[in-house]
Amino acid sequence: MIRFENVSVTYDGAYEPAVQDIDFTVPEGELTLLVGPSGTGKSTVLGAVSGLVPHFTGGTLRGRVTVAGRDTRTHKPRELADVVGTVGQDPLSHFVTDTVEDELAYGMESLGLAPDVMRRRVEETLDLLGLNELRDRPIATLSGGQQQRVAIGSVLTPHPKVLVLDEPTSALDPAAAEEVLAVLQRLVHDLGTTVLMAEHRLERVVHYADRVVLLPSSGARPVLGTPPEVMAV
Ligand code: ADP
Ligand code: ADP
Repeated sequence: MIRFENVSVTYDGAYEPAVQDIDFTVPEGELTLLVGPSGTGKSTVLGAVSGLVPHFTGGTLRGRVTVAGRDTRTHKPRELADVVGTVGQDPLSHFVTDTVEDELAYGMESLGLAPDVMRRRVEETLDLLGLNELRDRPIATLSGGQQQRVAIGSVLTPHPKVLVLDEPTSALDPAAAEEVLAVLQRLVHDLGTTVLMAEHRLERVVHYADRVVLLPSSGARPVLGTPPEVMAV
């Protein structure tokens, strides 16, 4: 579903590539973790999946990234929005409307769907993420874990094949983090969504993962594995 072939990204003005010769595949319908210490290029890899890198960050991408068969160099993020949903660390920076229900509907507005389809998708997503009781609440009044679930819901309503998340639990306490991870696992198992999630605390999340891509601290090539086995590529 996601394929990196010999990918290197060098930001403008940088002496060294942010990632170098990355080669891995994320299979459809699995939860894959992207793990590595801070600065090893996790956000860069996720940006290359959603097309932010290099279209909005500048710099040069060598090699090839494809998502559901689309080359992200020739498709701008807007042209990938029906395939890839992106959620960051800070849910508050994600929101554009006031209430939970409006936020879930917002992501579909440019898709040209019929109003009854949009309403049905909002209902489905409220159920799926356990947000029904919160539908009319101003987002600002929710807990961090609830806000992160709303952020995930807002990118799910267009029914993306792929969800990429950049350390979505980093601002959450352990209980709220578990809630979010359980939701992600349900998406993978019930809907067949392909999830790629960056995380620097492997121990918190590894038991939710089907597969782990390990970015090396420097020099060495990335390691791709399915727990408990780890294969070098
Ligand atoms: P991680 O997510 O693992 O912390 P990043 O992908 O954010 O890693 O960063 C990898 C390297 O690229 C770091 O050296 C970082 O400083 C650099 N970098 C990230 N984004 C940019 C950018 N927009 N412009 C220039 N350098 C960047
Ligand atoms: P449409 O919204 O295009 O009319 P439906 O609402 O009938 O399609 O949904 C089609 C199927 O997609 C349903 O079985 C539904 O459970 C499932 N679905 C719900 N949410 C998602 C999602 N986020 N990604 C993929 N499929 C989803």
